[in-house]
Amino acid sequence: MANIKFNRPEILFPCFAQLTSLSGIGPKIAGMMAKRIGHAIIDLAFYFPISIIDRSACPDIDKIIDGEIVTISVTVLTVNIPVGKQKRPARIITENHSGRIEIVYFRAKSDYLKSLYKVGSQIIISGKVDFFNNKKQMTHPDYVVTSAQSEIIPKIEPIYPLSSSLRQNLIRKSSLMALSKIPKLPEWLDDSLIASQNWPDFKTALIRCHMPKSAEDLDLSSNHRRRLAFDELFANQLALCLIRNKQSNSEPVTPITGNENFIKRFISSLPFSLTASQRRVVVEISEDQKDTCRMLRLLQGDVGSGKTLVALIAMLRAITSGKQAALLAPTELLSKQHYQNFLQLLTGFNIQPVLLIGSMTQKQKKEIHEDLSSGVIKLIIGTHALLTEDTEFFNLGLAVVDEQHRFGVKQRYILSQKGGGCDVLIMTATPIPRTLAMTAYGDLKISQLDEKPAGRVEIKTASFQIDKIGEVVERLSKAINSGSRAYWICPLIEESDKIDIAAVQDRLEMLEQLMPEARPVLAHGKMKSDERDKAMQAFKSGESQLLVATTIVEVGVDIPEASIIIIEHAERFGLAQLHQLRGRVGRGNLHSACLLLYQSPLSHVAKSRLDILKQTNDGFLIAEEDLRLRGPGEVLGQRQSGVPEFRLANLSIHFDLLEIARKEASKLINEDPLLTTRKGKACRMLFGLFEQDIAIRYLNSG
Ligand code: ADP
Ligand code: MG
Repeated sequence: MANIKFNRPEILFPCFAQLTSLSGIGPKIAGMMAKRIGHAIIDLAFYFPISIIDRSACPDIDKIIDGEIVTISVTVLTVNIPVGKQKRPARIITENHSGRIEIVYFRAKSDYLKSLYKVGSQIIISGKVDFFNNKKQMTHPDYVVTSAQSEIIPKIEPIYPLSSSLRQNLIRKSSLMALSKIPKLPEWLDDSLIASQNWPDFKTALIRCHMPKSAEDLDLSSNHRRRLAFDELFANQLALCLIRNKQSNSEPVTPITGNENFIKRFISSLPFSLTASQRRVVVEISEDQKDTCRMLRLLQGDVGSGKTLVALIAMLRAITSGKQAALLAPTELLSKQHYQNFLQLLTGFNIQPVLLIGSMTQKQKKEIHEDLSSGVIKLIIGTHALLTEDTEFFNLGLAVVDEQHRFGVKQRYILSQKGGGCDVLIMTATPIPRTLAMTAYGDLKISQLDEKPAGRVEIKTASFQIDKIGEVVERLSKAINSGSRAYWICPLIEESDKIDIAAVQDRLEMLEQLMPEARPVLAHGKMKSDERDKAMQAFKSGESQLLVATTIVEVGVDIPEASIIIIEHAERFGLAQLHQLRGRVGRGNLHSACLLLYQSPLSHVAKSRLDILKQTNDGFLIAEEDLRLRGPGEVLGQRQSGVPEFRLANLSIHFDLLEIARKEASKLINEDPLLTTRKGKACRMLFGLFEQDIAIRYLNSG
């Protein structure tokens, strides 16, 4: 199939002109706007007001209430303007048939005031009225115009979210200019959809956002806002749809069938049997591997659901088909853990896993690189080091990426290009709410491990105020004496590593004094890696029963004998992260506990988080709640995760549109895969307007 090339349609060029091309915006103001708004006309057009000032009230003066914003016609009675260096305010008394209002200026050029206020003249003023000593005052009116100029005062004035250095008036004026530069674009949506939703066209919708007629017009669920949100989601879903298409039409890959006998032998060598969901997912993945189109699959499963094992089975299938397999982990610690784990599981199977991490010597790395490109190494485990350009594979058949939320979309594509396009399996323990999965991973197929290995018991979760730490230590001490192993987690929060590390060290010292029998050890990210390994090893072997650590243990650390986790300053963690941390225990068949220590007072959100955690161990429920509490941006750590940052759509409000966008996108791509029809061409506008960078780069590549 021919490739689609995406160039920005010429008709959109004015939208991407620099803001400095607008009159009144010079480099200095453009610089200020760049931070909040962006550089181009379209950025300003997508920057909407968040509230309004309603100036439509024109009451009699005696009916005005304190604090009301009014627009009234008055006659100037007296003008009292300070002269020279006098510090007192300027006062202008005005009146009409219904009463008097005093206008006050604390700072203003006297010439300016003199020209504005002439005794006996009739003017229209607009602004907020305050009561002061029973007198009505308007301090620094927003508008003062002659009766003939009444049109100048807008009835409804939009208010933009701005820092103080930019003036509302300037943004208002500039936005209207920006809007006038945006051409009328051909309609890209189906008439029937527009009719059923009662949507205006794109440009009309934009105008409505900037020129609201009432507060309701600012509502995210208003028709014009929904129209724009839909356009953005539609752009996103179209891009993903095209990527899916490109993938399934890319060069066929050799099917990977693997040696079924070998796989069976491996599975029966395990000290446990696979769970039903593991068996199901193993089949799903093997079907993909057998296919001639490249696999891009996301393997979701809560912490401890046994994803790694499923991945290993897929890797063995690749290896027994004569291919290489690679596992990418987010940290060296995890790489080593996987490596150890694989070594053990593969004893007697004549497959030698190899570890490649950044801290190895150049010489070691060079040897490994050689063995990778010659094909001697069949199974490699490593960190990002595996992604560097000098890593060449002989015939990479499968790349597994562990804990995707530390990897971006970009890495996903770099990886899939390695070895001339191999299968890619991405594992994540962060359960992804459906809405997010659809936008961030809409190009992937999804497998789910929704069951934990038998014998796992629910983790009991409780919370304590930090001043109850004495009680917590006492309980912990008892547990340690009866043989338990525990994590004690301190958050990293300060700007300075030094202060943070000091806090962790203080905690270690305190616990060493209170329970020397636990032989506490320390692990944090700033330690030399061999020291940290030693500590982890001591904890793993049981030589130490207490690991005081920062969140480096968050992802995937697997020590089934640990059954207690204490999390200090739990209020500072996000819900997903707390769930991840808690998942360090309850990995064996021991009764496990999670104690959340918090500093009061708890914010409302922090309290909700701790409550949810106490109520459930279900990662998906937690993820949905997290999405609700924090918004999609935070849930996966937007930037790294590749969850697109929507500018106009808000997934917690516009989620219904996402489903429609997905259907419309796949309908369109089915009918017009190259986007060459009139409608298809119109849809190309969307890629321009909502720059789907990564998607476009991918679609334009090779
Ligand atoms: P995840 O990566 O999903 O967090 P892991 O694959 O690390 O989970 O598995 C957690 C622990 O459970 C590991 O010690 C693993 O050996 C073990 N395990 C995996 N599958 C099963 C199973 N079916 N029955 C019992 N234990 C299992
Ligand atoms: Mg894991």
